Amino acid sequence: MREQRPIGVFGGTFDPVHLGHLRLAEEAADQLGLSEVRWIPAGQPQHRDAPQSAPTRRLQMVQLATAGNPRFTVDSAEAEREEASYTVPTLERLRQKLGVTQPLLLLLGADAYAGLPTWHRWQEVFSLAHIAVAHRPGFAVEAAALPEALAQEHLQRQQPTAAALGTSAAGLVTTFAMTPLAISATQIRMLLAEGRSLRYLLPQPVIDYIHLHNLYRSSDGS
Ligand code: ATP
Repeated sequence: MREQRPIGVFGGTFDPVHLGHLRLAEEAADQLGLSEVRWIPAGQPQHRDAPQSAPTRRLQMVQLATAGNPRFTVDSAEAEREEASYTVPTLERLRQKLGVTQPLLLLLGADAYAGLPTWHRWQEVFSLAHIAVAHRPGFAVEAAALPEALAQEHLQRQQPTAAALGTSAAGLVTTFAMTPLAISATQIRMLLAEGRSLRYLLPQPVIDYIHLHNLYRSSDGS
């Protein structure tokens, strides 16, 4: 197959988006030679607790955070839909649009990767995309630390470098070391609830947006 630069697919609740997410996407683009990182804020994810902020709010925060980065695009399809978000149907939609040969690279932090076997139709991910797993402080990426079914897939599919990712469309796994940032959206929501500063944990326009709309303070979650 002719080599094509992979497109990164970065899903998440982004409740709210923070510098851990942004560095993950930026370093993935650099280290893995991506032509683009497509951010996909989830609507109503099924495999975790409901996000506190409405999908449109989380989408707007991602749009603010990624504005001005020519390698970042935002896909609003999941956030704009009423029904539950699942990664496999989203990848199927992208595949249909981008064709069968375009390498797609699903970007996941180590914690999200370890949780992959809880996803709807999780094994089908491998026929639709490669996976790149970012190191995250406090979470292991070695096969020994993964759930058994995933460890087997991991051992068969892992690549020591990103070199092979552009030569096939899907099915490989690689890991990459990003600048370790122990930032989480949970921590940010807790700081806000306690009225503490968010500075330098997320982009200032996102902080301003959170304050403007009084997010993460009221119980209605809008
Ligand atoms: P929460 O604290 O609400 O669970 P989160 O900070 O983990 O949120 P998500 O939106 O759930 O953020 O994460 C989207 C993706 O980004 C996931 O694949 C997750 O593993 C990854 N990720 C989030 N924060 C980091 C970080 N600090 N370092 C590496 N990966 C991260």
